[in-house]
Amino acid sequence: MILDLFRLDGRTAIVTGANTGLGQGISVALAQAGATVIGAARRSCQETAQRIQAFDGRFFEVLVDLSRPGAVDTVITRTKELAGRADILVNNAGIILREDAMDVSEENWDKVINLNQRLVFFLSQAVAKEFFFPAGGGKIINIASMLSFQGGIRVPAYAASKSAVVGMTKALADEWAAHGIQVNAIAPGYMATNNTSQLRSDEERSASILSRIPAGRWGTPEDIMGTAVYLASKASDYVNGFTIAVDGGWLAR
Ligand code: NAD
Repeated sequence: MILDLFRLDGRTAIVTGANTGLGQGISVALAQAGATVIGAARRSCQETAQRIQAFDGRFFEVLVDLSRPGAVDTVITRTKELAGRADILVNNAGIILREDAMDVSEENWDKVINLNQRLVFFLSQAVAKEFFFPAGGGKIINIASMLSFQGGIRVPAYAASKSAVVGMTKALADEWAAHGIQVNAIAPGYMATNNTSQLRSDEERSASILSRIPAGRWGTPEDIMGTAVYLASKASDYVNGFTIAVDGGWLAR
């Protein structure tokens, strides 16, 4: 039956940045669909764990700073120890630094590119090599952005990294489709999380953003839960290399 295609029973999902915001919402959604979730985060995922344990779901935490050398190995080793497998990878962790292009230092540029772009590639490579290729398949969901399509304001490194995410999504989908691997992305619109707290506290910017969202409201982590489950499940087995905007209509305006 069609809804069974969306079930994730017996699957294991690695979600980066699972402690808060969109990563927490995605973790809860995948666990509700039946997956065991391994949350890789630099801060405690206690709240996420509690939300999942409340419905008897399965969640494990891997505490790791993903911008440090060796982080990819830590995620792979701990996943093997905790679950022995991974069928789904959600590359969600990301940072945004707001500054004029003229003021961006090499250090700040590297910080953003390192986590939002480089890690997405090398974690995908490692998870595919270790788990997906031997098993004959897997799902990768990258978290893109409106700034995968637009330039944004005062966030040049972020816009560069999120544009790269869409490119990598296509490149990996193309190369790995024959191995049963689907690589897709979700481009969230303007969501009420820590990532946008600075924007939302600026009354003028906040009002101008809100007035441009056709849905008339900021998005929430709940808004991307359904798309995450869809892209993690068999229901999307013939969807590959695509970026789905979950943006209340922002890109349509
Ligand atoms: P958030 O700031 O609440 O979450 C970011 C997550 O990344 C947190 O879990 C954080 O701990 C983790 N993280 C950051 N640096 C890390 C590191 N070095 N090691 C491990 N984890 C690290 O914001 P969010 O909105 O939930 O962001 C999640 C993703 O969604 C990000 O990739 C972000 O760019 C993207 N996004 C957000 C929006 C939005 O409007 N909120 C829009 C488009 C895309």
